[in-house]
Amino acid sequence: SLQCGIVGLPNVGKSTLFNAISTGKAEAANYPFCTIEPNVGVVTVPDERLDILTGLVNPQKVIPTIIEFVDIAGLVKGASQGAGLGNKFLANIREVDAIVHVVRCFQDENVVHVEGRVDPVFDKEIIDAELQLKDLESVDKKIQKVEKAARAGDAKAKAELELLKQYKATLEAGKNARSLIVDEEAKQAAIGDLQLLTAKPVLYVANVDEQSMLAGNEYSEKLRETVKQEGAEVIVLCAAIESQISEIEDPEEHEMFLAEYGLKESGLSKLIKASYSLLNLITYFTAGVKEVRAWTIVRGWKAPQAAGVIHSDFEKGFIRAEVIKIADFQQFKNEAGVKEAGKMAVEGKEYVVADGDIMHFRFNV
Ligand code: GDP
Repeated sequence: SLQCGIVGLPNVGKSTLFNAISTGKAEAANYPFCTIEPNVGVVTVPDERLDILTGLVNPQKVIPTIIEFVDIAGLVKGASQGAGLGNKFLANIREVDAIVHVVRCFQDENVVHVEGRVDPVFDKEIIDAELQLKDLESVDKKIQKVEKAARAGDAKAKAELELLKQYKATLEAGKNARSLIVDEEAKQAAIGDLQLLTAKPVLYVANVDEQSMLAGNEYSEKLRETVKQEGAEVIVLCAAIESQISEIEDPEEHEMFLAEYGLKESGLSKLIKASYSLLNLITYFTAGVKEVRAWTIVRGWKAPQAAGVIHSDFEKGFIRAEVIKIADFQQFKNEAGVKEAGKMAVEGKEYVVADGDIMHFRFNV
């Protein structure tokens, strides 16, 4: 499954947030293929549509889709030079699909700030700089490799070198690799193999005080302004409260607790949803009396590829897909009703699966 790495300076609230994630964790038994390590938390992706389907079908089993969060502790100033076990942690980041960057936006005299003051923008820049330095190393190495071929006249290598130099300049200017807008194919050729840390999609968490949970505060606003230029999203939450929320198992009590704080949903739930869309992921459903299940795919995938998430045989032997929209399922109550009303579509190999589709695949074995 997909992994988001939680990064940030020490004492910003990463562990507190990670604990909230691991406490409210998904039942790992349903996901035999996840490797559960101490620094990995598995959470289910909240989805109202799954609840609707469950109500209509009343299945024996409901399986939501999941995301994994990895706690990447120990990033400090100088990490790219190896400080604080820096290189090990940077290697951990290389493996994740997206980055959740936690920034301290709360004042608390009892919690030491590693740099002596609360300044979210500066904090963010410290982490960014470490990641950029590491990326610069990777880009420099690749430049050395490609240069020979480019000098020998290889046109492909020349184009790659050109782009690599642009990345180098970007990083040297203190900007993240993701800020360079380039053609996807050219980008793949030049840096596809490098797994650049600052090219990964990012999402910021402003960890604020309890009092600022709803409206944010001057710190979270400063952060928001800064990352606006990057087109990145900021989730405002209070990690300490999130960890309390995650302790509450009873759904009704959970609702009450949120209402007491004036929250519509938990910050964690917002974070999970935002991570999901950051990665350009969508969900389709399968709905039978035995099991109603949510499946994760990348937006734009066609029916056979989407079927392959269930089983590779589904993709190989794909014949067609029967597709129902949730709204139709809701209106006509069940598959037979939908069929009768002529609302079940039969789609072929070229069908692009839409978010929320209820799919039934037909395939050869
Ligand atoms: P990490 O080093 O980034 O993992 O930070 P921790 O999660 O260990 O948090 C560092 C300290 O800050 C701990 O004492 C937490 O209790 C405290 N802390 C975390 N989140 C908040 C918060 O939202 N408000 C306040 N006041 N303290 C917090």
